Amino acid sequence: MSFQIPSSPYGSPFATPLDERPRPKRTTSAWRPPVAPSPGGYQQGSAHAQQAPTSAANEASYFPSSPAAQGSGAGVGGGVQGSTAETMQQQEGGYGYAARAGQQDTTGGLAQQMRSVGIDGTASMHARRKKDRHAYHQLEQPAASASTQPGGQQYLNGAQGQPSMGGQATAPWQHTTQPWQSQSLPQAGSGASVQPMPAGTPVPIAQQGPAHMGQGSQGRVNPDQIPSVPLSRDLPAEYYKSRIYPTMEQHLPPPATTPFVAFDQGNASPKYARLTLNCIPSSHDHLQSTALPLGLTLQPLAKQTDGEQAVPVLDFGETGPPRCRRCRAYINPFMIFSNGGNRMTCNLCGHPNEVPGEYFAPTDPSGVRVDRNDRPELLLGTCEFLVPKEYWSKEPVPLRYLFVIDVSAEAVQRGFLHGVCDGIVAALYGDSAEDGHTSAEDADNTSGETRSAKVPAGAKVGFMTFDRTIHFYDTSASMSTPRQMVVSDLEDPFSAISPERLYVDAAQCRKNITALLKQLPVMFAQHAVAEPVLLPSLTAALTTLEATGGKILCSLASLPTYGPGKLFHRDKGNYTGEDGEGSREYLKTEHIGIKKLQSDLVKAGVGIDFFLSAPMGGYLDVASIGFVADKTGGETYYYPNWTYPRDSLRLQKELSHTVQRDQGYAALMKVRSSNGLQVAHYSGSFTQHTFGADLELASVTEDSGMGVTFTYDGKLDPKLDAHFQAALLYTTTSGQRRVRCINCVASVTNVPGEPFKFVDQDAVLSVMAKEAVSKAGERSLKEIRQSIQDKTVDIIAAYRKNFAGSSQAGQLVLPQNLKEMAMFVLGLLKSRALKGGKEPSDRRIQEVRMVKGMGLPELSLYLYPRIIALHNLDPSDGFADDSGRLKMPTALRASFAHIEDGGAYLVDNGQILLLWLHKQVSPNLLEDLFGPGINSLQALDPSLNALPVLETLLNAQARNILLHLEEQRGSKGLAIQLARQGLDGAEFEFARLLYEDRNGEASSYVDWLVLLHRGITQELSGQRAKTGGGGEGGGGFSDTLSSITGAVPYWG
Ligand SMILES: [Zn+2]
Repeated sequence: MSFQIPSSPYGSPFATPLDERPRPKRTTSAWRPPVAPSPGGYQQGSAHAQQAPTSAANEASYFPSSPAAQGSGAGVGGGVQGSTAETMQQQEGGYGYAARAGQQDTTGGLAQQMRSVGIDGTASMHARRKKDRHAYHQLEQPAASASTQPGGQQYLNGAQGQPSMGGQATAPWQHTTQPWQSQSLPQAGSGASVQPMPAGTPVPIAQQGPAHMGQGSQGRVNPDQIPSVPLSRDLPAEYYKSRIYPTMEQHLPPPATTPFVAFDQGNASPKYARLTLNCIPSSHDHLQSTALPLGLTLQPLAKQTDGEQAVPVLDFGETGPPRCRRCRAYINPFMIFSNGGNRMTCNLCGHPNEVPGEYFAPTDPSGVRVDRNDRPELLLGTCEFLVPKEYWSKEPVPLRYLFVIDVSAEAVQRGFLHGVCDGIVAALYGDSAEDGHTSAEDADNTSGETRSAKVPAGAKVGFMTFDRTIHFYDTSASMSTPRQMVVSDLEDPFSAISPERLYVDAAQCRKNITALLKQLPVMFAQHAVAEPVLLPSLTAALTTLEATGGKILCSLASLPTYGPGKLFHRDKGNYTGEDGEGSREYLKTEHIGIKKLQSDLVKAGVGIDFFLSAPMGGYLDVASIGFVADKTGGETYYYPNWTYPRDSLRLQKELSHTVQRDQGYAALMKVRSSNGLQVAHYSGSFTQHTFGADLELASVTEDSGMGVTFTYDGKLDPKLDAHFQAALLYTTTSGQRRVRCINCVASVTNVPGEPFKFVDQDAVLSVMAKEAVSKAGERSLKEIRQSIQDKTVDIIAAYRKNFAGSSQAGQLVLPQNLKEMAMFVLGLLKSRALKGGKEPSDRRIQEVRMVKGMGLPELSLYLYPRIIALHNLDPSDGFADDSGRLKMPTALRASFAHIEDGGAYLVDNGQILLLWLHKQVSPNLLEDLFGPGINSLQALDPSLNALPVLETLLNAQARNILLHLEEQRGSKGLAIQLARQGLDGAEFEFARLLYEDRNGEASSYVDWLVLLHRGITQELSGQRAKTGGGGEGGGGFSDTLSSITGAVPYWG
């Protein structure tokens, strides 16, 4: 599916698309998703079908021939849908939902899940019931919810449940229900509507009826009947193994954790941008009635998968890309050409621009530019433009990486320096096993013929170390050995070496660089000095990058308490303020030196990534140090319990990823939207000087995610679409200044229930989470938690009140596309970022910033981990299936009810990977997994961080599964951390991540739904007291969440 640009009779104004970015660096498994066939041609709405130019019927053109249809109606027409999609719906429509567990054999996916949790057979019933005692509480039936539905199945009829929708709002790409989404029972009265209405999903809070799963008495909630996050991930993942996602045909993207191949049809791939609402209310009041946020979540440099077309890079020469004269929007597929091609009407502000001479092309009788199919910028939702000098702040050069390494006593003694040095070698040159053909002899070859470094072409590297003094290194190839230069003036630190000698080609200077990195741990072990000077070191580092911009990677192993700009032991661990959660001051920084440094770095276009270790969990003031990374678009990697050598693998992977990932620097970003909407707020890792100003990102990477919310400054016309354009101006690692444009389109509606049908759960969660954590430090955590809870109640109550139709009073009815939202929100409330109770400020602020800056797939896992049982894998799991793709076992709910005696489990939350082993785990399983002789938990090396390579079935399966999980990761390296029952401290982490369970004083999932339900009932009956946060009127909900304490594992 490579993109061909046919030669145009009008001459192509852009040069050959080029993309010299390094391709994926992580080890990849042998089972890639196959390149799915492209859709058989985008079917236009019936109104426009006849007008489609003949060229659009050309088989080679699978793009919409005219998404910005001229004149009338919704921009993308209405009516006919892609026949492929329809067929798929019919074929796959039968996916069942967890609520039906045990009642009806539905699909392979479900059956598999049942099998893998061991509850398909009667034999396991007993064991399960026993464990249920620990996992959740039996609920009393809320008084208000008495209902007498026969049979306990109270699914809504969609046709009754919602008002019918207006005709004009149904663009052909708006298929509400994708096959894997039909998680409710078959609808009665089908045929009432051509498009299936998404019924709400009732959760039988007040269930009555026949015994189910052994607990049929009145008023109890079966935890297997509430929406399942694992199922909501596994089914789409299976579905998208064999299908692509066409961006204009189905406008509800796959869940964020789903690996999929996107096909850009003019609307940007959801990997780059997702709207919370793909059908936007026409007015502020309409939006208010849904309580939903209107926002956009962005990951502008998200990595692509095999089978996806690379983003084209277009060159318009000295003039730069065509833009709207009024709002400065960039050319995109939705600009409308008229007057024979002389006029270009902006899709964002409506301004009729004159087409510049050099960009003129005539339009055909249907109003489509004749050169349309030769122009990626008129076809694709995501494009990059090379930009002329006006867009430069300084001459762009290939990225310069500066490694600034802590060599003080703590770093030396705890093995952190060792880990960092080994990690940098691996980051620059790969480890020898992986890179067998690149021998040391190649490295010495300075002819430049052999590229033996992993940094992007043209990029350069430099090295500095610091303890109480600052050291620069000359590793240039002209030196026989690396040379050190010391700076001891901390008041006015300067660079002791010219940038030309400091920054070298990693491949050419491999010999000196590896020699240096091998020597450092030895050299500084001999005269280790305590108390590193951080601020002067970074100031000196900045002087070497001021002229060019670049990226600093800085390691630090203890609180820098010496010299100018030193930091203090602010947080002494006595949590008395803010209900025992510690002072919010600890989550902020007022350090003048830190703030000045951050501001200077942003100005110079220098981002910084920190690698922080805190042996014995010591205080590092991550709030102050990480602030610099946060505001420069960088990232902080934090090892709160650094143990060498256990954590060195993770460090090495994270260093490698940081160096090798797709990234840019000296970036600016702006989001534009249609008339009637304006940006209200941005959240993420960046600097924004004033409201309305561009975002400044000294560094932006493939992992960077940000959220944008919009408000109304007018009314939207339901006959037109709403448009959004994010523009990221940045310098690539190879030194090109470019703008990446990401275009999104959504329809506009004035039909009440419509927005709920096209709501994107992941985007809503992301916008909510990023906004919420952004307030940490300004508001109390209790207030933040309360406001998230209120928002959740507001949304479900709004749905219930206005759109859910005649459902039973006692039912909790969740919007079809927001079924799992409550669980994800609970995960957010239980996360380290926001949880109640004591939490060291270092760990809390670290996770607050992570949530703020992470992309959607990473966030989703963070809010609900993936748990996989290793002890009862199907023999086919972890290997290629018939079609050559990896067969993943189904995931388990994050509840101890699903944990079996003698079990072995992988728990992945995108940040850490736990391998939890029950104390009665079979010795055979241990030997199969870890090797001969290792037949007890005690026999395992506690610092194990990866599986050995064995020739057993289980070992191969587990390694393949781990590889697959690693491919889905964001910025964090995957290394195993053992959590042996009764032996390892990580067991507490395991308990904490069982988010469906009651944990300490935090709600179980079931309790949480009951709490939400109570709030919704109060809201509907007008009795709900709006708390405004922190007050007493919240029905005591937040009290339940206020103290999630140390999480003592509560099983024997
Ligand atoms: Zn405009």
